[in-house]
Amino acid sequence: MAADPGEGERQRAVGGDLPGEGERQRAVGGDVRPTPRAVAETVTDPELPMLTLADLGVLRDVDTAADGTVIVSITPTYSGCPAMDAMKADLTHRLHAAGYPDVEVRTVLSPPWSTDDITPAGRRALAEHGIAPPGPAPRAAGPVLVALTSRPRTVACPQCGSPDTVLVSQFSSTACKALRRCTACAEPFEHIKEI
Ligand SMILES: [Zn+2]
Repeated sequence: MAADPGEGERQRAVGGDLPGEGERQRAVGGDVRPTPRAVAETVTDPELPMLTLADLGVLRDVDTAADGTVIVSITPTYSGCPAMDAMKADLTHRLHAAGYPDVEVRTVLSPPWSTDDITPAGRRALAEHGIAPPGPAPRAAGPVLVALTSRPRTVACPQCGSPDTVLVSQFSSTACKALRRCTACAEPFEHIKEI
């Protein structure tokens, strides 16, 4: 199959001296690779494996640079979440496996991620796995008094739906989850903390 010379030429002019690479990709004719975004969207959160990075609202952007480098922009969830390194490694690995040899994962800090960014599909997935999805995140609108007493809020039990649940621990298996227990069915469950 002959590569389109015009296309190849342009690629070369931009990408420097890697004619072989550009040629080989063109020659495939009809790119059968899934789009970089489709690949990136399949990556799941290491701490909440039932959620994809898209469900979590962590995947901010997927771009392809002129030289073919796939640039994925993700935003950190809970500060210091060690999951970020795992997400980066996973994104890079999946994209390599899907036929994208050059991958750059960038961290975007602004606007900051909030649990409000979790999609409705993501919230359903959490509930289906027995994890109480987060409620609306606290919003700083105008001057806000820093809460000296944390206002208890209702978190319904994901097993039986009872609102009668108690906080067992602010930190569960990971910093982003609190451990609660349902008074009605006695089942302990995790709750994604609102931020
Ligand atoms: Zn219950």
